[in-house]
Amino acid sequence: MSVSVNLTTPTKTNLLGLNRQGLEAFFANMGEKAFRASQLMKWVHQLRVDDFSQMSNISKALQQKLSEIACIRGLDVIVDQLSRDGTRKWVMGLEDGNRIEAVFIPEDDRGTLCISSQVGCALDCSFCSTARQGFSRNLTTAEILAQVWMACRLLDEEGRPERNVTNVVFMGMGEPLLNYDNVMDAIDVLLDDFAYGLSKRRVTVSTSGILPGMQRMAERHDVQLAISWHASDDALRDELVPINKKYPLKELTQALHQFMEKRSPRSRLTIEYVMLSGVNDSKQDAEKLIRRLQGLNVLVNLIPFNPFENSGYSTSSGNAVRRFQDVLMKAGLTTVIRKTRGEDIDAACGQLVGKVDDKSRREARFIKPRLGMNS
Ligand code: SAH
Repeated sequence: MSVSVNLTTPTKTNLLGLNRQGLEAFFANMGEKAFRASQLMKWVHQLRVDDFSQMSNISKALQQKLSEIACIRGLDVIVDQLSRDGTRKWVMGLEDGNRIEAVFIPEDDRGTLCISSQVGCALDCSFCSTARQGFSRNLTTAEILAQVWMACRLLDEEGRPERNVTNVVFMGMGEPLLNYDNVMDAIDVLLDDFAYGLSKRRVTVSTSGILPGMQRMAERHDVQLAISWHASDDALRDELVPINKKYPLKELTQALHQFMEKRSPRSRLTIEYVMLSGVNDSKQDAEKLIRRLQGLNVLVNLIPFNPFENSGYSTSSGNAVRRFQDVLMKAGLTTVIRKTRGEDIDAACGQLVGKVDDKSRREARFIKPRLGMNS
């Protein structure tokens, strides 16, 4: 068997991963002017071109030079599923064999792309299926943006202009604020007018409450922040979102007040609250949440729990969710119930990827089902 290995590819810079500053530095190194960065961004991110020879406003000589030292490389599509409700989900393969996922969720007035920031997740939230897979590594900026670029290309191929990416949320696998630099560089490109040109209100970073990351983000990007809240006393939150032991509710709340002081008065935080039957969905839980959120301008998003095997939890009933919503609304908190999407294709986070190359050896702990299920 003859094996041919292309030794040049790995050393090429994947231009998908460079923000404007990075591209300007890249071109400066080649003795080229800064405006090349805008040209290239447009070709790559708006026209979705991956072949330098198609870039007609770039000279043949520069095209040739670029093809020797750089590339525009997406990800392998391993699974591509379309749900009855229009949700489209991809499992994408990385060069090291790991897999991540991205989900496109169309609604009447927008198309939201949910992307991953890490392979697996180092946090251990008890109701999250990604957590069960353990943690492998951070995604590079190129891998983060490749999800957006691939999704746009694949949606372009559908030939339905109404199905395009208008919003991006970091709610796939991983904790974005534990991959701070790469996520922030990726956001630069999402917001750049020569690339995706999204408004800051259409990009959401969802965090379990990594305080140092939130503090840094307040200085760098004015995009939407969503907090995975889920419980309003420390004992329960320690169990559901164990990073709470490091950053407990009182500190989290203080940090949120400080964060919001740096934002425009009209801006709003999103509070995500997964509804777990008999765990966090009582009237008292709603009242505790109201007390905790006092003085913060928030939108509360109640998320029906997406079940997975051996999770040990079940979804709150529709009545319980509506009762919870009622209590919050009466206290003046804008509260929406998130529609479950793509149920027929397992669009819940982390469900399709299968195994990640778990460096944390977490999976071994789940051989026995958790929380006394089946016992
Ligand atoms: N680590 C980040 C982003 C990934 S999780 C965070 O914690 O916010 C994205 C959202 O999906 C979070 O609000 C998370 O709590 C929620 N989620 C995770 N597993 C879920 C499940 N099985 N059902 C419903 N929501 C879930």
